This record gives sequence, C-alpha cells and structure tokens, in this order.
Amino acid sequence: MIIAIDGPSGSGKSTVAKELAKRLGFACLDTGAMYRAVTYRGLQMGFDLASIADLDAPEAPQDVREALVKVANDEPIAFEYDEFGQPIKVEIGGQDVTRQIRTKEVDSTVSVVSACSDIRTALVAQQRVIGAASDTIIEGRDIGTVVFPNAELKVFLTASAEARAHRRVLQNAERGVGDTDEQATLELMKYRDKYDSSRANSPLSQAEDAILVDSTDMTFEEVVERIIELAQERM
Ligand code: C5P
Repeated sequence: MIIAIDGPSGSGKSTVAKELAKRLGFACLDTGAMYRAVTYRGLQMGFDLASIADLDAPEAPQDVREALVKVANDEPIAFEYDEFGQPIKVEIGGQDVTRQIRTKEVDSTVSVVSACSDIRTALVAQQRVIGAASDTIIEGRDIGTVVFPNAELKVFLTASAEARAHRRVLQNAERGVGDTDEQATLELMKYRDKYDSSRANSPLSQAEDAILVDSTDMTFEEVVERIIELAQERM
C-alpha cells in the first residue's frame, strides 16, 4: 500500500509521515531529502546555484546542468533507519549528508534544482523503486499526481504560511541546523511554494482524488489520527 502525502514546505509532512510509519509499520520516504541531496552536491562542487533562475532554460550554464543530472543518475541516494523505522541518515554516493541538506543555502537553492526535468526523471525513478519494495508512506510535492498516481491513499497536507514558518523554525532549532529567524523563514517558504507551484515540471498541486487536511488549527496527534482513520478505511 502506498500513502502519498503532498503539500507545501513546512506543512508537517515529514514529522507526520515518520509517526504514521511507526504506528502503521510502514516504511517512509522523504523525497524532498533527495532533491536536497542533489542540491547539496551542486553547492559542494562549487556551483553558484543562487545565480541560476531556470536550469532548463537555454541560457542556463550547461556544465552545471550536466553535472547535476549526472549526480542524480549516478550517485545513489540511500536512507538509513532505526529499529522503529525512523530515518536517521541520508547518504548520496556514499557520503553522509544528513545535516548538510538542511542548511539555509540548500533551502534557498533546492527549488531551482528540483524544477530541472532530467533531475526529476532520475529521482522519480529511484522513488518508484523504493516505494514498490514495501508498504510505504511517501511525502513530497508530486507523489499523488506523478510518482504514484495510483496510491491507495492521497493526502494533501497544508496549513497557513505563518503556522508552517513557525513550525519549521522550531524544527530547525531542535535539529540545530537551518534558519531560526521566523520572518526570514516565512519569506523563503513563500518563495519556495511559489516556485514549486508554478514550475512546468510536476508542480506542487493537489491531486483530484487527494483528501485535503488543513492542519492550521489541528494538533499533531489530530493530524496523525485523521490520516490513520483514512488509511484504515482503505486497508
Ligand atoms: O519537502 P522539502 O521542503 O524538504 O523539499 C525540498 C524541495 O524539494 C521543495 O521545495 C521542492 O522544490 C522539492 N521537492 C519536489 N518534489 C518532491 C519533493 C520535494 O520538487 N516530491
């Protein structure tokens, strides 16, 4: 069974997906971490990703595009999980990037990388292989629309931009990495949501058959219980 959870940044997808995986005994897959890992590799290779508006545009630096597409195709992304199925490590090409993918630099450049068609093709192929291996909760932006359009349950998880920025700042503080300035986080989040929703390739959008869960005024527990209820109806 595939449970697809899509939604804008900071809507709580990752924390909810991890808790659902624990309670339902499913695997979980954070597809955002995969786009972040490729982005981090680009920054590590010294590319000025912040100066690129669109990697698929003819004027985009072709050496950068080619190098990033090569990373997405040739450097496998692996997740390590603890005994409760909770993700604890992200690797790309054997390099541990768990913390590096959560920095402000990655936050502000990942949308450009994830909008690149060939990078998406490479990562979507990996996501389909991982998802097909077992019952999985997959979270991202295009899981219900593109990656697993036949998922048994599709949830579109959202919340007001202010609530999402607030939660993201708390999460960054807990992780000890990423921005903890709420106003700056809110602005970056709005920019990413706009970019992710308006790109040509697999934009962030609610699948027609996805169930909308607006968590603005819901507790974490209420969100988890609501999705478990929906999952049980489909099992
Ligand atoms: O979920 P997270 O905020 O970690 O995702 C980082 C970025 O990766 C998003 O802003 C989006 O650009 C991209 N992404 C995507 N498709 C997915 C998951 C994430 O384009 N399925």
